Parts: sequence; structure tokens; C-alpha cells
Amino acid sequence: MKDIDPTIPPSGPGCVECTASGGWWFHLRRCAHCGHVGCCDSSPSQHASHHAADTQHAVVQSYEPGEDWFWDYAAEEDFEGPPLAPPRHHPVDQPVPGPAGRVPLDWEDRLN
Ligand SMILES: [Zn+2]
Ligand SMILES: [Zn+2]
Repeated sequence: MKDIDPTIPPSGPGCVECTASGGWWFHLRRCAHCGHVGCCDSSPSQHASHHAADTQHAVVQSYEPGEDWFWDYAAEEDFEGPPLAPPRHHPVDQPVPGPAGRVPLDWEDRLN
């Protein structure tokens, strides 16, 4: 059984840690257990996978518009999961990468 609680809403529109620290992200992932929104492994800070490692919450879902795949960090596999509590993705007017105003001009050179 995967570690998923479909009743928990996402923590907010952006990566929790990047929002607190003034950072920026490429794509966003949502923890399927506690709703933590973190940045993907291509982002400079990789907060989604750090959250999984720190908390043992192994499952994330993409928090990008139009994507509904899940990823299990422990099993290292993607899979189909249940619908999670809305919203299912960050606001569509939020830029990628984001957030607005904090992305450096050479962001493509800074991806992992
Ligand atoms: Zn982040
Ligand atoms: Zn979590």
C-alpha cells in the first residue's frame, strides 16, 4: 500500500522551503502523505526529494498543470494513484520556472 492520504490539501502554490528562503524552482511536486509542496530534482534546491528523505514520505504527485503521475522515491517507480484533494496543480498563471520575479536570467544553466 502506497503512503497516500487523498484528503490532505496541498500546502500552497509554491515550494515551501523556496518560498521561505527567497529561492526559485523549475517544477513542483506534492507530497501525497502530508501535502508538502516542494521543488523537483531539476530545481536548484531539490526540496521535494529532501522532504521525502527527511520524513520517509516516499510518494509525490506532480503539481504541474496537466500532469497527474505519481512517483515513489523508495520503490523508484511511477504509478497511477487516486485523485488527491484539490487544487491538483499550482495556479496556471504562475510562471514556470517560478515564482514571478525571483528567477535569474540564466536559470537554464542552473538546473540540475
Ligand atoms: Zn524548493
Ligand atoms: Zn510529506
